[in-house]
Amino acid sequence: MTAFRILPVPQSVADQIRAKRSDDHGNVGIQPTRTDEPRALPCRVCLEEASVGEELLLFSYSPFERPVPYRNVGPIFVHATACKPYDRPATVPDLMRRRLLALRGYSAQDRMIECDLVEGAVLESLIERFFGNPDVAYIHAHNARAGCFVCRIERDRPAT
Ligand SMILES: [Zn+2]
Repeated sequence: MTAFRILPVPQSVADQIRAKRSDDHGNVGIQPTRTDEPRALPCRVCLEEASVGEELLLFSYSPFERPVPYRNVGPIFVHATACKPYDRPATVPDLMRRRLLALRGYSAQDRMIECDLVEGAVLESLIERFFGNPDVAYIHAHNARAGCFVCRIERDRPAT
């Protein structure tokens, strides 16, 4: 099994939205959304689903930091106030276990070279297959049904 790391959306991204209430994709005056359904809205920083009554901010986000042909932009939620970034990189978060996921494997040049769907309960099987391809540098996980970005997955290489 290839060791991997689950990486959430950086806290710095969420902090910018919390402070400015605008994103890099033209959305301004972003207002909090109050959750009225349990397990409906996952925060991409702590990788926890919001409890009923919690407030989140919905904005547009791209997991690519530079303009490449595969650069996609989509909706994600983060807690409206600071939360603890997900810090168990070797553990698949529960919210991913309960969802059908779309994984896309990219080369170091940000070209999509693998893509498939997997039930989160057996997520490791597809991570293993993708990282079996030595050209896959990293993976993006999306919710397959809603299409929203969930997290980045990297190989966990020992420090050299
Ligand atoms: Zn959060």
